[in-house]
Amino acid sequence: MDDLTQLPGVGPSTAEKLKEAGYTDFMKIATATIGELTEIDGISEKAAAKIIEAARELCNLGFKSGSEVLSQRKNIWKLSTGSKNLDEILGGGLESQSITEFAGMFGSGKTQIAHQACVNLQCPERIIADDAIKEEILNEPKAVYIDTEGTFRPERIIQMAEALGLDGKEVLNNILVARAYNSDMQMLYAENVENLIREGHNIKLIVVDSLTSTFRTEYVGRGKLAERQQKLGRHMATLNKLADLYNCVVIVTNQVAARPDALFGASEQAIGGHIVGHAATFRIFLRKAKGDKRVAKLYDSPHLPDAEAMFRITEKGIHD
Ligand code: ADP
Ligand code: MG
Repeated sequence: MDDLTQLPGVGPSTAEKLKEAGYTDFMKIATATIGELTEIDGISEKAAAKIIEAARELCNLGFKSGSEVLSQRKNIWKLSTGSKNLDEILGGGLESQSITEFAGMFGSGKTQIAHQACVNLQCPERIIADDAIKEEILNEPKAVYIDTEGTFRPERIIQMAEALGLDGKEVLNNILVARAYNSDMQMLYAENVENLIREGHNIKLIVVDSLTSTFRTEYVGRGKLAERQQKLGRHMATLNKLADLYNCVVIVTNQVAARPDALFGASEQAIGGHIVGHAATFRIFLRKAKGDKRVAKLYDSPHLPDAEAMFRITEKGIHD
């Protein structure tokens, strides 16, 4: 919990009211709307605008100079997916300071990719970084796995780890798994990652598998769409902030929905609309091919061409 009295015009009693309304930290306030804050007794529109602006600054959501961005980007590192083909279309691997989204039908390999990433984090050859950064990453790196579908399988982690000659139990010890039964828990777990880091865990990978399933079941119908999108937006902002601030790789998985209205182009679409689309830097569609083969298609990347890659899922894990 943050000390809300650091915000302009917020004394102890307003801080208390904010907390009661669920605004327990700066991030929640930074991503709130003026309309939401004015629902709280004693907060005018003008005060709400000031509070939100200050919270955004405290969360680093404001402007940065180009050279600051450049120096931050110098720390970017990459985590191999296990497939050279897939790494190549991603520009070398899963990139830190970004969110990578894997979308696809049931069984297309989203959860397998997420498991493999957790294993690969323990494998120095699969971390692509400059020496100084690599040293920092290899200092007991840990993955956080937010599991909303109950599909995290420790046995599978052991299997993948042993295929790489790693100690399965050790790899498991470095994965912090949280089962989220609803979207509030999911959001809270993501927000709590910062506490884990402050406690000294060197979190370098965050997985949310799946990003949208809880939201999809809880916010049903047109009338709930705005609220759903707003919450999803806040969740994505939390993940983006963690990625940026702590130089983490973030993977989210997503289901696809049929687009009955599609005359041209893709007949399937990732859930979550523009909110997810804008927040994810790398978006990948997965589809099944023959046998253990899968096709990954990168689309919508700001600096990479759309491209396809073929990889396989076998008992060893993800590879070409
Ligand atoms: P989703 O996209 O729904 O998350 P998954 O990532 O769970 O899909 O992929 C499931 C598929 O991965 C299975 O259908 C199977 O083809 C493959 N798979 C899972 N575990 C193994 C394993 N131990 N050995 C070989 N293939 C596996
Ligand atoms: Mg899955």
